[in-house]
Amino acid sequence: MTSAIDLFITGLKNAHAMESQAKEMLERQNERLTDYPDLRNRAREHLAETEEQLRRLERCLARLDSSPSTMKDMALSFGANIAAMGHAMAGDEVLKNTFASAALEQYEIAAYRSLLTMADQAGVTEAKADLELSLREEERMAAWLNDHVEAVTQQYLQHEQQQAA
Ligand code: MG
Ligand code: FE
Repeated sequence: MTSAIDLFITGLKNAHAMESQAKEMLERQNERLTDYPDLRNRAREHLAETEEQLRRLERCLARLDSSPSTMKDMALSFGANIAAMGHAMAGDEVLKNTFASAALEQYEIAAYRSLLTMADQAGVTEAKADLELSLREEERMAAWLNDHVEAVTQQYLQHEQQQAA
């Protein structure tokens, strides 16, 4: 039988791998969203939040005498790396990227809510404040993306029509 603490540790490691992937995605966006300043600024802010989220998860793991899984982190971040080339986002890529970011934030929200449930089960209540902070950041980012789908689309339409003219 696996203890609730071990299951929580596995959940924390999975979340760390998730955040490593989110960090790579945001770094690429930061490099490539040169024509979309609002989106780029918000991505830059969320990159700083994501780096803090990684540190929070590392602190949670350290308190439980564990550490992030290098294998899990690598498996996930590798895909993000090859998807990324260092040129400005072209065509409808900015839209696909926005949709993917909105989906990722929902994934992260679900993951933190799940971790909070596991923390309760495992009786590790001292981890909850950090997890709740990260959950709030994901909710704010998800709401921002949801609120800006139309504006990003308008910018994209304008951008593409200027290019064609
Ligand atoms: Mg995150
Ligand atoms: Fe996030």
